[in-house]
Amino acid sequence: MSLLVVGSIAFDAIKTPFGERERALGGAAVHFSLAASYFTDVRVVGPVGDDFGEDEYAVLRRHGVATDDVEHVEGGKTFFWACEYEWNLNVRHTLDTQLNVFADFQPKLSEASKQVETLFLANIQPDLQREVREQTQAKLAGLDSMNFWIDSERESLERTISTVDIVLMNDDEVRMLTEQPTLLKAARQIMELGPGVVVVKQGEYGAALFTKDEFFAIPAYPLETVIDPTGAGDSFAGGLLGYLDSQGGATDAATLRRAMAYGSAVASYWVEEFGCERAADLTREQIDERFEAFRRMSVIESVPA
Ligand code: AMP
Repeated sequence: MSLLVVGSIAFDAIKTPFGERERALGGAAVHFSLAASYFTDVRVVGPVGDDFGEDEYAVLRRHGVATDDVEHVEGGKTFFWACEYEWNLNVRHTLDTQLNVFADFQPKLSEASKQVETLFLANIQPDLQREVREQTQAKLAGLDSMNFWIDSERESLERTISTVDIVLMNDDEVRMLTEQPTLLKAARQIMELGPGVVVVKQGEYGAALFTKDEFFAIPAYPLETVIDPTGAGDSFAGGLLGYLDSQGGATDAATLRRAMAYGSAVASYWVEEFGCERAADLTREQIDERFEAFRRMSVIESVPA
């Protein structure tokens, strides 16, 4: 099976109470593809500039991520984003967003990318997401978005949502999109647009899964130390979609629950280091250990007779 992701490839300036990085490799598509690479074959689509060099490609290739659809824009600069976290790491301030090569990006997929089984439309302009969706025959497609697009391109975003099977968004954004006060009503409203699965990310409180017939919730893995939450949502999505792709794109209740646990396990490692640095020595065995920990954490024994 194979999985394609389209989204930002970036350099991030990140400041947390525990340190900073001036130019960390990042972007939703990078976090997602590295995370998904633990489960399946991954291809990434997105533009980069002249400042994106061999060192950056090497990080992706070491994880087996196919980069032939990364578009190098001659004379361009890679997407740049700067953020700062408060002591409460749930509070993040965006300090700068420079679209650079993303401003004129027109996705062009190779034949190999058009034929993937699973597709993830990471957070980018909804029209671009739809253009990619329309170029593939993926059997399973997921999407993420953010407040910026809900505000500025709601109609286009709703059209794009109607073309996918799984929506993964933050709780605030799900409420903002649907103008519904409860997540259940919000999830139902999103499902009315077409997707059969809605996953609501809730930061350090975990994630919730809604389908027509099921509800499931998983906490975040209890960590003693968090260094940088950047990429937690994208690596969660990478673990979740990567696992689903490895299971032939199944979306039955049991497979979805396992996918939620795998996504949470990967994200729990991601936040232990800056950006995607933790991926450098993360192994599938470690991910499986936390998957098992989630299984143990989630069992409630019945009342003794
Ligand atoms: P997350 O922490 O999972 O929300 O994702 C953080 C990543 O999203 C960073 O690596 C950024 O480069 C990227 N990012 C931030 N803002 C945007 C945006 N407006 N469009 C696309 N990607 C973005």
